[in-house]
Amino acid sequence: MDKNLFLIPLNGLARGRTETVMKVGRQFFESFENSEILDADLDVCVVIEKSGDYTGVDCHVSGSVSVACDRCLDPLALPVDTVALLSVKFGDGGAAGGDDDDSSGREIVWLSGDDAELDLAQVIYDYVCLSLPMLRMHPEGECNPLVMKYLRTGISVTDTGDTAQDSPFAALKGIFEN
Ligand SMILES: [Zn+2]
Repeated sequence: MDKNLFLIPLNGLARGRTETVMKVGRQFFESFENSEILDADLDVCVVIEKSGDYTGVDCHVSGSVSVACDRCLDPLALPVDTVALLSVKFGDGGAAGGDDDDSSGREIVWLSGDDAELDLAQVIYDYVCLSLPMLRMHPEGECNPLVMKYLRTGISVTDTGDTAQDSPFAALKGIFEN
């Protein structure tokens, strides 16, 4: 995947409002070496507003990603709907520990004076990953029935006090490691 697609040439943009739409798929997350996200189908709407010294970038990411279910390991589709509001500033304020939010709640991104390109790839990646829930599970009853059957059998055998060797968990362990 060409990461240059996500470089916004801020200095070259006209004053006023510029809108652009980007597509983010599985390869995007692969390029970050993220193995948690199995698939992705996301639209990123970017609105850049330049006026005076102010450069604002609104990034709305929506669509869905697919991750492994924590319970049955089958793919689980998660909706994504997150917004990154950035205020781009030029100079070395970031080095002075100025990497904060501005008064309107926008995250301030510092670019050095001659670095006029904003790399949105990292921003999109961070916001999508942060928007995902900690617990990722199918709704009750919608997990892979085969895996759930194994899990249930394992629990009942363990409850009757069988030894570890002939527990179905031993077989299950092999499945999950493959
Ligand atoms: Zn599941």
